[in-house]
Amino acid sequence: MSYVVAVDVGGTEIKSALVDSDFNVIATTTAPTPKADTTGVETVKAIAAIVAQFATQHPVDAVGLAVPGALDEPAGTSRWSGNLQWKNLPIRNLLEDAIKIPVAFGHDVRTAAVAEMRSGAAKGARNAIFIPVGTGIAAALIIDGEIRSAEGFAGEIGHVNVNGKYPCVCGKSGCLEPAASTLAISKAYEAQSGKSGTTTEEIYKLVVAGDAVAINVWNDATAAMARACELLITILAPEVIVFGGGLSNAGETFLKPIRDYLDSSLTFQRKPRLEIAHYGAKAGTIGCAMLAFDRVKAGK
Ligand SMILES: [Zn+2]
Repeated sequence: MSYVVAVDVGGTEIKSALVDSDFNVIATTTAPTPKADTTGVETVKAIAAIVAQFATQHPVDAVGLAVPGALDEPAGTSRWSGNLQWKNLPIRNLLEDAIKIPVAFGHDVRTAAVAEMRSGAAKGARNAIFIPVGTGIAAALIIDGEIRSAEGFAGEIGHVNVNGKYPCVCGKSGCLEPAASTLAISKAYEAQSGKSGTTTEEIYKLVVAGDAVAINVWNDATAAMARACELLITILAPEVIVFGGGLSNAGETFLKPIRDYLDSSLTFQRKPRLEIAHYGAKAGTIGCAMLAFDRVKAGK
């Protein structure tokens, strides 16, 4: 048995997992993402400590590192991340230099899409879109059987204008991300109810229970997501749209309002299936591990 560590650097936390070559998750750990770490030094230190900790359980052959934002994947560089405040940061090489084992590098959304495409909800589809909804929102565009990267610039659906009313980390306002991310839903609920610190998980349970404020917040967020889906469907004609990330546990509570909107708004377009990620919030971990094992197999 061989082992890798999957590392997902998010806006608020670094989620890591020790994964075996049958893709069983052996252990997981979460650490806070260092704030405003523009040089990446503190982030590399945090990941190196996590890998060293896992290595006390099993020898680690490679690391799969997933980060958000616009990337140059072959170069291992983060071109830009609003949430991490990174710009032109060679994060893969910095980590490889620190831990001395191979690091497979990818975009958090596209690495999760690898899992859904190879063995999850998008398996068998030549054209599919994967949208994890977390602190941020981006899409993996699977076009004619391949994940479109466009040198790392493709899929930033979180920054299309959906006539939203909130300012965005990208410097504009009206984007999908500040209208429909898990962070956005929590903030909107706080603004309307006066209750702070309510998680998206708690909010969708309030929606199911009939809480009027939660329903209002939920309708705004899902309507924004539905408008973004309409755009993607019209341009790319996917067979399936798969939703993952923190909102995937909401299941039909999340899918139904989007499906209802699309049923009433689409005319000539091909209607895609709407699905929740097979791997749920674990898609990123499994996809990252798959890429790390690809590197182990390639012998690099
Ligand atoms: Zn934006």
